[in-house]
Amino acid sequence: MFTWIREKLGLPGAVVICIIAVGLVAYSAFGRKDEAAESSSERMFICSETMKTFQYKVKVGDEWPVRSPYSDKETGWPAEKCYWTRDGGAKREPTYVLLNEYIGKDEPTICPDCGRKVQRNNQRPPAGKWRELAEREKQQAAAQGD
Ligand SMILES: [Zn+2]
Repeated sequence: MFTWIREKLGLPGAVVICIIAVGLVAYSAFGRKDEAAESSSERMFICSETMKTFQYKVKVGDEWPVRSPYSDKETGWPAEKCYWTRDGGAKREPTYVLLNEYIGKDEPTICPDCGRKVQRNNQRPPAGKWRELAEREKQQAAAQGD
């Protein structure tokens, strides 16, 4: 390939094409990496004034609370996710909960949906609960198919 290009374009042309090719490969590799990092820094936040949730892209050096688009003030806190249902099962779509410790309330945070205690890095339901959920979903899908 290199020899063929060199014959057609001479050595300078071949070198330029190689540099462009290497540049493109490097650019696409780095480009992808940036994208992945960006999507992982996108987090769900909750506004302590309106209790509404919003996506926020966390940047280096950001401190909590962040500006909430609802109150237009610094009332946005990272939301904890609760994947429990009231009857003790797991659910796919979490309830987003504002922790009392963030807003200076000295009492445990209770999930408004299931009534369980919610903590920092809140525990997800164990694997068995997810298997039960998958089983229920399969049955529902089968029931709908009839
Ligand atoms: Zn809950």
